[in-house]
Amino acid sequence: MAPSAVTVSPTVAAAEVSKAVTLKAGNGTPTVTSKQEATISSLLNGDWSAFTFNPIRESTVSRAMTRRYFADLDAYAESDIVIVGAGSCGLSTAYVLAKERPDLRIAIVEAGVAPGGGAWLGGQLFSAMVMRKPADAFLRDIGVEYEDEGDYVVVKHAALFTSTLLSKVLAMENVKLFNATAVEDLITRKEKDGSVRIAGVVTNWTLVSMHHDDQSCMDPNTINAPLVISTTGHDGPFGAFCVKRLVSMEQLEKLGGMRGLDMQTAEDAIVKRTREIVPGLIVGGMELSEVDGANRMGPTFGAMALSGVKAAEEALKVFEIRKKQNAV
Ligand SMILES: Cc1cc2nc3c(=O)[nH]c(=O)nc-3n(C[C@H](O)[C@H](O)[C@H](O)COP(=O)(O)OP(=O)(O)OC[C@H]3O[C@@H](n4cnc5c(N)ncnc54)[C@H](O)[C@@H]3O)c2cc1C
Repeated sequence: MAPSAVTVSPTVAAAEVSKAVTLKAGNGTPTVTSKQEATISSLLNGDWSAFTFNPIRESTVSRAMTRRYFADLDAYAESDIVIVGAGSCGLSTAYVLAKERPDLRIAIVEAGVAPGGGAWLGGQLFSAMVMRKPADAFLRDIGVEYEDEGDYVVVKHAALFTSTLLSKVLAMENVKLFNATAVEDLITRKEKDGSVRIAGVVTNWTLVSMHHDDQSCMDPNTINAPLVISTTGHDGPFGAFCVKRLVSMEQLEKLGGMRGLDMQTAEDAIVKRTREIVPGLIVGGMELSEVDGANRMGPTFGAMALSGVKAAEEALKVFEIRKKQNAV
């Protein structure tokens, strides 16, 4: 038996935890009150032949999920900020914003089942992730180790960056990720001067969004917010979504389209130009290169993290103004 402070068999451990887990009245958050919780070392090399999980009824599992999801849908129907796309830029934006302003309710809407966008690998499906300085500051902040190569740093696997950032963002109390959910349109408001302001997003299950051509009457849902930050990546079936919609709404004349690869200029341009494109809509990451006709940077990712920092800064600059405009 592996050493542990309290040595219990798996059966006993499971039963003890079962008795100890109660639901807090009101918010449905589980809280463990037992002094004797199972540990891996108490389970390891225990009596597995006698092992059993605590009992559960199927409807309990169903309600445990749906109650929380519907409570989140209800709460986040009025969000402070919606981030569209949970790639490296969207997640970096969420991390900085939620940390700076824990009072803001931030919804992230991600079309894919798996959040993280294109940052699970480096270039050409190699593992390592290269970031040019000063983006190493972001890695230190989230606690990801790297090799210092002078002007740039290398994280041993891109997935280490993405999974660490994702876990930090998901743990933040003021952030909710709605994945497998696509933004299908933008909510707009016409201002007195005739200009159009973005005031939220129109959403649907991604699988529903993909079947509008062969099924009818699949109306969407909405999230109101004074500010939307779009980071949907470069053009593709889902990519560059919000800026393409701005063109079709005649709020942007046309997209510049992404230019050839030039690491030297591309990263600076994306970070510097991360901005509010029309009132209520900030654009960052590779989606921005489609607006500005900027170069691509290939497999170096510092600009995605620092575009997130800039997007958060831009958001905080205009948030109170947009909130006031959105109140009416
Ligand atoms: C296979 C592959 C190859 C790439 N090659 C290059 C390259 O050679 N050079 C280069 O510069 N970049 C390349 N990229 C892009 C590279 O991943 C980016 O540099 C970086 O990941 C972009 O980060 P981002 O956060 O801007 O966008 P992404 O990482 O692309 O994240 C965008 C996220 O937005 C989500 N999304 C999109 N539309 C919607 C919507 N309507 N509603 C909700 N969510 C939405 C997507 O599912 C995705 O998770 C490549 C990406 C992939 C996937």
